[in-house]
Amino acid sequence: MYHGVSKNKYLKSPKHLSYDLFRAQLIKLKQHYEFTSIDNLTGLLSNKAIKNPLLAITFDDGYKNNYSAAAEILDDLGLPATFFISTGYIGTNKWMWTDLVEYSIMSSKQDSVKISDLGIELPLSAPGNKALAISSIKSLLKSKDFYQTQSLVEGFSKSLLGSDYVDPFDDYQFMSWDDIKELSRAPFAIGAHTVNHPILTNVSQSIAEQEILNSRDDIINHIGTCSKTFCYPNGKITDYNQAIMNFTSLHFDSAISTVYGYARADEMYQLRRVGVSNSLGCNKLFRRVANLTYGT
Ligand SMILES: [Zn+2]
Repeated sequence: MYHGVSKNKYLKSPKHLSYDLFRAQLIKLKQHYEFTSIDNLTGLLSNKAIKNPLLAITFDDGYKNNYSAAAEILDDLGLPATFFISTGYIGTNKWMWTDLVEYSIMSSKQDSVKISDLGIELPLSAPGNKALAISSIKSLLKSKDFYQTQSLVEGFSKSLLGSDYVDPFDDYQFMSWDDIKELSRAPFAIGAHTVNHPILTNVSQSIAEQEILNSRDDIINHIGTCSKTFCYPNGKITDYNQAIMNFTSLHFDSAISTVYGYARADEMYQLRRVGVSNSLGCNKLFRRVANLTYGT
């Protein structure tokens, strides 16, 4: 499970891997494993037809650098990948709220951040303050009403940054529908990851169902096809439930979580993945994958 691959020398967020690390990881894995698409893997898994360990590459969210950096390397190495997009961000200048928290705290010149709606005031001036503030704010907000969170974050970011507030740029930017169209050629595929990226257990069941179906329909309307695998936002065990899995099973062949592990036939609507960030070196990722393919 990747999010992005960056050509920037200084990475803004560890969820985007450096261009060289991504390439090195895939070269190493390709020497030892076969790759297939997540849809094909799902089919083989449900038919109990997997003989040897197989890897599937997925990207979450729909960042611009999937198109402008990751695809180049995947093409060069001839590897398939599926890009799961939150369609409400595609072709817009909207921030993903988690990115906006990170960007505005890191860029702020103020000594502290006060968020009255959360009843907190956090220092920003000492070393380590900013990283702590980002993780505290993110974890407080993840349990709040999603639609309030978006406007709350925009509000405090504008007050923190003043005239320095900007639209998403570089690794914070999302793809356009033209990018998505180009990226939908074989061996790539585009998959649904909701419209607005809410944690589905934080919204009502009917909103969750709309988020799931509308993202799939957006994709079909733009490119004519959509992966048969769905991808849960945030994807931890508490971020989907039985009702959400049941609904997903009516419209998709499988769904992927962010829970660590290998994909198993008895978990078709909560397939596990291995999250890869820029801090996961090439050999460490290889050892992780090797351990999982032996079922440990
Ligand atoms: Zn996501």
